Amino acid sequence: MSDFGLNLENHYAGLPEDFYTRMPAEKVGTAPRLIHANPQAAALLDLDPALFGDPAFVEVLSGHRPLESFAPLAMVYSGHQFGVWAGQLGDGRALMIGQVRNSADELWDVQLKGAGKTPYSRFGDGRAVMRSTIREYLCSEAMAALGIPTSRALAIVATGETVMREAPEPGAVLTRLARSHVRFGHFEHFFHRGEKDKVRVLADHVIAEYFPEMIGDHAAWYGEVVRRTAVMVAQWQAVGFAHGVMNTDNMSILGLTIDYGPYGFLDAYDPQFICNHTDTQGRYSFINQPVIAHWNLRALALALSDLIPTETLIEKLATFEAHFGGTYHALMRAKLGLTREVEGDNKLIGGLLALMNKARADYTLSFRLLTGEDAPWLALFGEANAEAESWLSRYRVRTQSEDLSGLTLINPKYVLRNWVAETAIRAVEDHDDTAILDRIFKLMQAPYETHDGDEAFAAPPPPNMCDLEVSCSS
Ligand code: AMP
Ligand code: MG
Repeated sequence: MSDFGLNLENHYAGLPEDFYTRMPAEKVGTAPRLIHANPQAAALLDLDPALFGDPAFVEVLSGHRPLESFAPLAMVYSGHQFGVWAGQLGDGRALMIGQVRNSADELWDVQLKGAGKTPYSRFGDGRAVMRSTIREYLCSEAMAALGIPTSRALAIVATGETVMREAPEPGAVLTRLARSHVRFGHFEHFFHRGEKDKVRVLADHVIAEYFPEMIGDHAAWYGEVVRRTAVMVAQWQAVGFAHGVMNTDNMSILGLTIDYGPYGFLDAYDPQFICNHTDTQGRYSFINQPVIAHWNLRALALALSDLIPTETLIEKLATFEAHFGGTYHALMRAKLGLTREVEGDNKLIGGLLALMNKARADYTLSFRLLTGEDAPWLALFGEANAEAESWLSRYRVRTQSEDLSGLTLINPKYVLRNWVAETAIRAVEDHDDTAILDRIFKLMQAPYETHDGDEAFAAPPPPNMCDLEVSCSS
């Protein structure tokens, strides 16, 4: 056994035993095979990327070989799902196999997702399918490259076994990283069991490691969680990202985007966009995300109500709007290159969004193509061409004295469109071909660059891939 040079710390295990269950990973599948690995994520752990070529390390990534100095554990948490208290959940198919202290003194959780059942699996099989593993792997790297706080992905391993969903599918294990995987639901768990002291223990544990400047100040810390969550969701809205399942058990206490499931980037701009096929009411529609984030922060506030006076919680929660609005407006202004504040700017921004909505213009391209010739941009608006032309001439006048040369570093060319993720999935599943996955992975890690030869992946879905459905089943 070996730790492969990783500097491991049993940090979470320092909490009382009812915060988790210590257990080894199940040996899922017989011949795990590395499908893809991410050197950028390896660097976060000070991990030598040459280890991806070491069969013994690939066994670690599949759960077949534990690290020597870390006792793996599954965390318990609870949560509100679709607005309803769901009671106890927990890491039902995730297992923490390490916490690594890197040379920058950052602690990183290393989790296997899909490496077997835990005491929190409920009716689930503890497994993950290749499809959803590739989706999480690509999207977390896309979000990181877009500058949006997120968990990261280290590797995908094919387990070689079949997993039963609506149909049989190939199984996989994702190794994901986050500074912490603690969720709002962790706090709700102990609060709703009436275990106030444990809410405090967990809060102090999280603050000491991740918010050290706030030790002893629970109110300031909650305010910071509000701020980070608001900023993260503003970034989602600006880039056109819909998470799909904003349950409180999927909300990170660090304000990270976590638990990629039926997410979607907007293609045609529709504020009512619902990416999750199972979300029939549209609770988690694109436009609802800020309101839902606020709802979730209120659920967290309740869970912290024995630590922080109610008036203070209300006051901190009320800062959400300013943090969200301020960040969102700054980001939208930046997307159009509006540096100086001029009267009529909000109308200009609103006018563009209304036009995009009416014409169902592609969200990403509507911003990206503003840098360049008029014709390709106008072509996005189809029959609303005349209105688009009129908006564009107003925009050109408004930005005459603005420097727009940096816009391609603000408006990405590539986002992880569903059809692009699907293309990578089909190549791996149907043809055992990882070359397309690798190409798309590289586009996602450099989304502002042009990538000659891969323009096709910047385009809206081709007609035969317009109606892909994604759901919670993963
Ligand atoms: P999610 O909607 O993916 O965030 O999952 C909600 C809860 O269900 C979490 O506690 C997961 O760990 C658990 N879960 C989801 N899929 C499975 C599975 N296949 N096996 C066991 N638990 C699962
Ligand atoms: Mg989850």
